[in-house]
Amino acid sequence: MGNVLIIGAGGVGNVVAHKVCQSANYFDRVMLASRTLDKCNKIAAKLPRPIETAQVDADNVQELVALINRFKPDLVMNIALPYQDLSIMEACLATRVHYLDTANYEPKDVAKFEYSWQWAYREKFKQAGIMALLGCGFDPGVSGVFTAYANKHHFDEMHYLDIVDCNAGSHGKHFATNFNPEINIREITQKGRFWENSKWNETEPLSVHQLVDYPEIGPKESYLMYHEELESLVINFPSIKRARFWMTFSENYLTHLRVLEHVGMTSIKPVRYQGMEIIPLQFLKAVLPEPSTLGENYSGITSIGCQIRGKKDGKDKTYFIYNNCDHAQCYAEVGAQAVSYTTGVPAMIGAMMMLTGQWMKPGVYNVEEFDPDPFMEQLGAYGLPWHEKINCELAFK
Ligand code: NDP
Repeated sequence: MGNVLIIGAGGVGNVVAHKVCQSANYFDRVMLASRTLDKCNKIAAKLPRPIETAQVDADNVQELVALINRFKPDLVMNIALPYQDLSIMEACLATRVHYLDTANYEPKDVAKFEYSWQWAYREKFKQAGIMALLGCGFDPGVSGVFTAYANKHHFDEMHYLDIVDCNAGSHGKHFATNFNPEINIREITQKGRFWENSKWNETEPLSVHQLVDYPEIGPKESYLMYHEELESLVINFPSIKRARFWMTFSENYLTHLRVLEHVGMTSIKPVRYQGMEIIPLQFLKAVLPEPSTLGENYSGITSIGCQIRGKKDGKDKTYFIYNNCDHAQCYAEVGAQAVSYTTGVPAMIGAMMMLTGQWMKPGVYNVEEFDPDPFMEQLGAYGLPWHEKINCELAFK
């Protein structure tokens, strides 16, 4: 049992709050804090048990420290944005409280994400006797746990890793992003990157694509992108010769994105507008639907998994592990679409792993550095059942 402070009351924050409340055996007192108090209170009103709420600016370390000292959590879950990773880690260090997040730090003024900024805290966290668990959503998160599980139970050596992420759902809007629009568009418009021949290889944004055959969905065009878990996975599993990440986008989504890019709306360079400076992408975010509002009429499913090839007992082996998740079922359960749900459930399970001591050692860690088995046991129980295919036909090349 432990007290948990959840920061961020968006699409994912709502799911984390519901799931924490469903697991009352593991979580004692719960607080949901965010920039906009009203959003916390609206979520709290729908939860099966009472929680506390608070307003906080998570960019402000002093405010965070004051809130942590007042509420006295054992763990702070950063479910706000990657921009807040370092300020919340600083506040956790100052108060000696454990930390968890779902996305790695990126500076506001450079569209670049990598673990270096957060891995730099390893020694400080170790000295303070506290733990930080990085990237504990679905991808990153479950994708790393799936890979660790494959390594533990199915391979002597993993050689080729492909993480495949499909959203075959429809929300009925002309254009919307399934998680925070600013973070999502920054990620998608970056150059692609994959690991091969012991180095990172770059591709033009969304220029490499192929059909991937997703279970219960069928073939969908999938685009090679850079995704942060690749960075830690190729370090933690050095036998991996090639690691890639693929995501589906509809033609409609890509057409809108191209137009927005061409007219400059996805830029993060400030422009003068009516006497003040604004960032076009931040303005775009303000006019797009919020991820937390997409669930109501969302139909269809998501499918996220890992296809791994390597050696077991001297023989070639192919292994595919995945979860499929239904948007409408998530909405019926917690009032969220499946992208928020598949992120929020693993975040709660990561918190459970830490508070029960099953994943607990001082320092800063990625999920694949821990025993995957207890996490995998909880995944199905809390709404994300997983499936395996062994020596199956490849879903793609
Ligand atoms: P939303 O935009 O729906 O929610 C973000 C929340 O953070 C909002 O409530 C927002 O407040 C709050 N917030 C933003 N800045 C601050 C601040 N300075 N202080 C306090 N609160 C703040 O995003 P999502 O819920 O969709 O995503 C949340 C996180 O989950 C993101 O980091 C995203 O990258 C990550 N994610 C991870 C995935 C994974 O699989 N690993 C997949 C999907 C998302 P306000 O409402 O006032 O703006």
